[in-house]
Amino acid sequence: MSHSSLLIRGAQAILTGRAGDAMRHDVRSHGADIRVRGSRIDAIGHLTPEHGERVIDAHGCIVMPGWVNTHHHLFQSLLKGIPAGINLGLMGWLSAVPVSYRRHFDHEAVMRLAARLGLVELLLSGCTTVADHQYHYYPGMPFDASQAVFDEAAALGLRFVLCRGGQTVTRSIDVNPPPQVQPETLEDFLAAVEHDVQRFHDPAPDALRRVVCAPTTPTWSVPVEHLRPIADEARRLGIRLHSHLSETSDYVRYTHEVHGCSPVDFVEQHGWVGEDVWYAHLVHLSSAEVTKLARTGTGMAHCPQSNCRLGSGVAPAPALHRAGGRVSLAVDGAASNEAADMLHEAHTAWMVHRAVGGPDAITAEEVLHMGTAGGARVLGLDAVGTLAPGQAADIVVMPLNEPRQWGLHDPAMAPVVSGAGRPSHVLCHGRVVLDNGQIPGLDLQALRAEAQAAVRVMQTARS
Ligand SMILES: [Zn+2]
Repeated sequence: MSHSSLLIRGAQAILTGRAGDAMRHDVRSHGADIRVRGSRIDAIGHLTPEHGERVIDAHGCIVMPGWVNTHHHLFQSLLKGIPAGINLGLMGWLSAVPVSYRRHFDHEAVMRLAARLGLVELLLSGCTTVADHQYHYYPGMPFDASQAVFDEAAALGLRFVLCRGGQTVTRSIDVNPPPQVQPETLEDFLAAVEHDVQRFHDPAPDALRRVVCAPTTPTWSVPVEHLRPIADEARRLGIRLHSHLSETSDYVRYTHEVHGCSPVDFVEQHGWVGEDVWYAHLVHLSSAEVTKLARTGTGMAHCPQSNCRLGSGVAPAPALHRAGGRVSLAVDGAASNEAADMLHEAHTAWMVHRAVGGPDAITAEEVLHMGTAGGARVLGLDAVGTLAPGQAADIVVMPLNEPRQWGLHDPAMAPVVSGAGRPSHVLCHGRVVLDNGQIPGLDLQALRAEAQAAVRVMQTARS
């Protein structure tokens, strides 16, 4: 499936992923062709096919960087639309769905199936880099969840960042916790993170595999005295830190009541801010917190669909972005967002901020930047997220095949303003991972049947 040289020819528009006016490559003056050699973009311009080179015809297509999804829980891909949690907010939903259903993920085959399904959904929307916040770990676990998710990403050819989650204390929010949410000791948690770093982590700017230290929440999943040692150990290992923060107003109230300060001040006190840290959600922030996140370079994984779905609110992502902060886009787990689709997520981001902040609250170009280069910056993958010579060849070719995309006066913005469509071709690290709309080697109908069977097994076990 890999080609030493490949030409994407005749794009209608090329979106670079870069901020501001640099988002749009001028195809008329500077050419509409992109050559890929090995894993990198070799050239963008007026290019002629070379002998033996594969050519992908991009006439009438938008060409853009692969989306970068900076927060997910892949194991939740088999937990969509569970009736017991469908109308609940974060706290009730956590107890009714992710915690309650953890016992069904004791089997490697189920974990692999869920991860595969989530990754396939993402790939079909043009996503090439996935940061998965995997927190299904507990003492005596019968299989290697880290290996399983890395294997599934590698089988599809995707760039994968394992945010190794977990907990070192029994969480006060877990009602009737099953054995699968028993805590690890701090020593075991840190040893497991280091083991994953040794096995999987590549610090290169175009790494296909990264490991991040990511206790599930800094407030409930670890005792306060563990926060500093965890941050210190991550920095000793040269890896990033990730967690959830300030998802709901209840969360903010809890932090004020228990710790006497705002959530961002709380994590700052324990070494958990900086360019090597990013948080999912950050829905409820004061202006002082926005300023502090921007000043310290602490990143946001903005998950507007999950925040809408759980009724959590709308994160001030445009304010952080315009303050010079680091903002990325993410789908979050499927148990709180039944669409693991970066096109859909971008469309929602564009819509929801204008609904609450007016028509100049965010532009389509800003959303595209957040979902591509913004995400790569948050993850420290500097050779990813933009289309330019020398950058990793993570490229999406998006035909405008949907009637919804017809009649557009500025088709280049279709991926954000239409929120529909499917790529014809996706390259990740120079490899064609979606070819003429098909994932090479994947039987999609077999995946569907396996997912339906897994849901039936869960339903039978609970009836
Ligand atoms: Zn999450």
